[in-house]
Amino acid sequence: MIDLRSDTVTLPSAGMREVMAAAEVGDDVYGEDPTVNALESATAELLGKESGMFVTSGTQGNLCALLAHCGRGDEYIVGDHAHEYRYEGGGAAVLGSIQPQPVPIGDDGMIDLSAAEAVVKADDFHFARTRLLCLENTCDGKVLTGSQMRAAGELAARYGLGHHLDGARLFNAAVALGEPVAELVEPFDSVSVCLSKGLGAPVGSVLVGSAKLVAEARKWRKMLGGGLRQAGVLAAAGLYALEHNVERLAVDHTNAARLAEGLVGGVTIESCATNMVFVDVASAGGLGKQLEERGILTTWHGSKCRLVTHLDVSSDDVDRVVEGFSELLS
Ligand SMILES: *Cc1c(COP(=O)(O)O)cnc(C)c1O
Repeated sequence: MIDLRSDTVTLPSAGMREVMAAAEVGDDVYGEDPTVNALESATAELLGKESGMFVTSGTQGNLCALLAHCGRGDEYIVGDHAHEYRYEGGGAAVLGSIQPQPVPIGDDGMIDLSAAEAVVKADDFHFARTRLLCLENTCDGKVLTGSQMRAAGELAARYGLGHHLDGARLFNAAVALGEPVAELVEPFDSVSVCLSKGLGAPVGSVLVGSAKLVAEARKWRKMLGGGLRQAGVLAAAGLYALEHNVERLAVDHTNAARLAEGLVGGVTIESCATNMVFVDVASAGGLGKQLEERGILTTWHGSKCRLVTHLDVSSDDVDRVVEGFSELLS
């Protein structure tokens, strides 16, 4: 099967499984898992922050960050189709009594900063307390540049807000920009990165920030049931992913571009950025099923489809997908 539904479907490679099997482990709730500790400090160092914390998922990393930055009755400003707003079950509201304040995301994947500035609340007892500004990079595969992120950072600083980055696919952005990832995330107080998407690890994300913020987040992680024991077997996969699977994201980006170029005739490319191609197929009826019969898995919302390249999609696979679309649509 060629699975283009998401980059979360990547399977741990033989090399990754070897380091997982050989990982030195301990009880991480006691802080005694050397491999977890190594992953946390390696990620913090890579992102230029003081501390890191291994979490079970990107959702848990974002939620721990929100809970560490905000208290009851506070609010966070967030893109209106950001993962942290739309796709995390309303966790911040449910579990933290934290109110989201959505603002529009433009075609470039960046939130509208003047809209964000306009919704920062005055210090007045009628209002929720605006505490945090959140960005997402990449957003629908689109890359926010260093200057876009610095502009958001300046806004956050001007209003004394915390600044969090949902960097689930941050390494895709860094590879696409060709810039050191620590420089890119310099404006943020906290950053969450996923190991289990394009980086190919089976489980996990890392939240980084100041030692103080991460210590607070660690308390929330425990409360959320995210205190793990011999998690070094998972952290080993994360370390392997950071070492072997970051630079190669460029291959996924090339494959996505090739895919977008190849899809002609009845297919409108809505966007193609890093490892994601969004298409609209007017005569899509049944196409998903027909592609599946040819061994190609895709997800559809009406006539729209997102195609995601990753380390288990080769350039030959891309050719097969292009062929599949063109034969089925002709
Ligand atoms: C996938 C994703 C997350 C959440 O990660 P999970 O591990 O699925 O919980 C958060 N933010 C963005 C932008 C994502 O794509």
